[in-house]
Parts: sequence; C-alpha cells; structure tokens
Amino acid sequence: MADSVFHEDFKAMPWWWEWWHPNNELSQDPPLKSDVLVVGAGYGGLSTALELARSGVEATVLERGDFGVGASTRNGGGVSGGTTLGKGFSGKGVGGDPAEWKRLMERMLSDAADSLSQVQTVIEREGIECHWRMSGRFSGAYTPRHYAEQAAKVGTYNESASLGTYMVPRERQREEIASDYYHGGMVVERTGQLHPALYYGGLLKAAHRAGVRLCAQCDAAFIDRRAGGFTVRTNKGPIEAREVVIATNGYTTDLTPTLKRRLVPVASHIIATEELPEDLVKSLIPKGRVVSDTKRVLCYYRQSPDSKRVIFGGRARFTQVTPEVSAPVLHGYMLERWPQLKGTRITHAWTGNVAFAFDFLPHMGVEQGMHYLLACNGSGVAMMSYLGYQTARKIAGGSNAPINAFDGQDFPTVPFYSGNPWFLPVVGAWYRTRDWWDRVTA
Ligand SMILES: Cc1cc2nc3c(=O)[nH]c(=O)nc-3n(C[C@H](O)[C@H](O)[C@H](O)COP(=O)(O)OP(=O)(O)OC[C@H]3O[C@@H](n4cnc5c(N)ncnc54)[C@H](O)[C@@H]3O)c2cc1C
Repeated sequence: MADSVFHEDFKAMPWWWEWWHPNNELSQDPPLKSDVLVVGAGYGGLSTALELARSGVEATVLERGDFGVGASTRNGGGVSGGTTLGKGFSGKGVGGDPAEWKRLMERMLSDAADSLSQVQTVIEREGIECHWRMSGRFSGAYTPRHYAEQAAKVGTYNESASLGTYMVPRERQREEIASDYYHGGMVVERTGQLHPALYYGGLLKAAHRAGVRLCAQCDAAFIDRRAGGFTVRTNKGPIEAREVVIATNGYTTDLTPTLKRRLVPVASHIIATEELPEDLVKSLIPKGRVVSDTKRVLCYYRQSPDSKRVIFGGRARFTQVTPEVSAPVLHGYMLERWPQLKGTRITHAWTGNVAFAFDFLPHMGVEQGMHYLLACNGSGVAMMSYLGYQTARKIAGGSNAPINAFDGQDFPTVPFYSGNPWFLPVVGAWYRTRDWWDRVTA
C-alpha cells in the first residue's frame, strides 16, 4: 500500500540486531557442578557472573534461548541514574513513617546514581564499544501539572544523587526537542545512552574472558533444595550448585512461582525509522539526549547511534502483540510529537518484556535460599547490571547483611495473583483514559 507506514524492507526484529545478533557462539556444555549457578543471561545474570569470576568464585550462567534473546538486546538503550524510581513508592516496609520513607528514598536515589557509574566503569574496564555517552535526558511534561510535579522533585534528585537536574520551561523547550507537544520538561544531565546489543555482546565476551561458563539453550526447569545447596534440573541434565541466582526478570516462569507472583511482565515496543537526512535527525533532538515523557502510557525515544534514524519506543500495547500491530500505533505517537516526520517509514519493529513490581521498585534479596535480582520497572540497563554486580559482591563476601538500599526490602504481591497479568488490557485502557483526562482538564 502506497500509504503504508512499513518500509518495503521491513523486519520484525530489533534494529540493534543488525549490529549484534543473539547467538550461541560462546556456549559450552553445562557442568555437573558449579559454585554458583545463575539462571538468565541478560545484563543482570551476566553482570553477576562476571563479578563472581573476577572475585575468584566459579560461576555458570544458564540461558534457555540463545544468548541475548531477552530484554537486554531489545531495549531503547537509555541509561538512567534514578529518576525513574519512586513512581509508586508506597513506603511499605518502613512502617509508614514519613521520615524513614524519605531516608530510604534518598538512599535508593543515591544507589541508583551509583548504578550509572558502575555501567560506565565496566564499559571502560572491559573495553566495550557500545556508543556509550553521557547524553542527558529530557523528560517532557505532558501537562502543566506534571511540569509542577517534576519541578518539585529537582531538589531531591540533586541533593540525594547529584543528577544535574533542572527545569526547561515551555518557551525554551525547542532547545531540547523540535516539538511543541510538551509543557516544558525536566533535564537530567547525569544520564546516558548506549547501543544495548553491543553492550550486551561486550558483557558476554567479558564474562567468557573472566572464566564464566556460559550455557545457551539450557532451560532451568526445576530447583531442588538440599543440604548445602541446590540441584537444578535442566533440559541438558542436573547441575549441583552451592548458590543459585535468579535473574529472569520479565521472562520469569514457574521455575520460581513465589517470585513470579511478585512480578507483572509488561510488553514494551519500539520502532526504528528508515534512514533520514542526518541534519533532520539531529534537529529533532538538538542536544542528542534521550527523551521520555510523563504520560502513564509513556514514550521514550532517541537518535540511533549513527544519527541516521529515530528509535521510538513506548507502551503501544501492554501485552504481547506482533510488531505489525504495535508499529503503526508507535508511528502515530511519533507523528503527534513530530508532525514533520509524516511520510517516514518504519524499517524495524520489535517488542520485549519488562517486569514491574507492585511497588514499582527494583528488588534484590534472598527467597527460599536463592538470590534474586528482579523488577526493572521498564528501566534496567543500569539497574539490573548494578544489582547483578551487587549480588555477586554479596555472595563473594559471604555476608547476609543488606548491601544496598534495594536489598532485602519487602517484595510485595497481591492476593490471588499467580503471575498471569490478565488485567493488563484493562490497566492499559485505564491509563490511556487518565492520560486523556489529564490533558483535557489541564
Ligand atoms: C522494548 C524495551 C525497551 C526498554 N528500554 C529501556 C531503556 O531505554 N532503558 C532502560 O534502562 N531499560 C529499558 N528496558 C528494560 C531493560 O531492557 C531490562 O531492564 C533489562 O534488559 C533486564 O535485564 P535482565 O538481565 O534482568 O533480564 P533479561 O535481559 O530479560 O534476561 C532474562 C533472561 O532470562 C532467561 N530465562 C528465563 N527463564 C529461564 C530459565 N528457566 N532458564 C534459563 N533462562 C531463563 C530469558 O530467556 C532471558 O534471556 C527496556 C526493555 C524493553 C523490552
């Protein structure tokens, strides 16, 4: 069709995979025994294993698909330092004491800021070429009220985490984005961006170099707890381990039912446009930042690392739908912000799972003797890498004491929820209605 949004070379595949594709090249047979067995080879699992190996602890990573099939090669590559925290922070677990709540929040913000430094350290130390740069983020305010809410948080972000946050009023918005869609917004200087699949490929290689045993197509199907450790049954045979780490995030299964019921897997979708004139792409986001917004059904977008395309993501649907369904919706959202892109076609569209916790916070801890790092809440490039690193330090250090503000916090669920998020279409419709209402009553 002449007016189709799809380019004739359209692929239902992450554009990032044109650069680094999921594969099994570094895969080995699973061992009979390993000190630590990590389930899930995303940023979280690989970061755990890499740090364990660097600390002299034997580590094996199991991945049920090819390396890189999960969210870690599918994301937008925005690297946040903490401002995505706290959306629904309830203060649960701190007894409802506002002062205690504030202190915990400040510690979380500070640790989230450390997660950004940790990613940068690993990229530099391991020589990972992944177009990393500290670009900053512009978060567009969908309504004047959202702008005021953002402004109220600037002080906390800067005091607790030195994020270099400041407000940009609507009159100056075009310094950040060639659009009048927002009511001004907030800049967070201390955030970055990278090529997610190249970062992943670099982490995988680094783990291999450090001596981690990497096992692809190895599905952990059942975990038996026994004296002194665990036996993990896989499709390739049983493996004994002293410690088990669960790093399965939005792909968590009945392997760990008590963790599954604490997570809501939500689909996120992205499109990549065809190549556009470089001047045009650069003019859309003049400072080359990552852009996101304050809508409940949020969008996040950026230039591709080669400045030739727009990478535009969002919750086109909250559930898994084919890219053929989500792409036209995202294309529509893109034109709402940039009508000047009318006629631009899509070459790639894809989807992946993020995992939300009921308190919208990331979690690490120990459940039934197993370590876990879960719940990226849509923002896990830095956070899951960091929680992996921290889990490894905890295991290597042999201490049970909480190692950061996310460790061992109450990890809530709700009655009768078993991990099947049947309610997501309803939540999606409700969020869309509330976004619409916020805007018309602004
Ligand atoms: C479309 C999209 C856009 C995103 N954009 C951003 C962004 O811009 N910025 C940001 O910070 N975050 C973003 N995220 C989130 C980010 O990608 C994730 O937080 C992060 O990749 C999670 O890493 P992980 O290692 O925890 O999980 P994953 O990378 O999802 O890895 C989990 C792995 O566990 C494996 N697994 C599951 N069960 C088993 C089993 N039983 N046995 C063996 N293996 C198993 C799965 O196959 C999977 O590969 C986005 C996510 C998506 C999907």
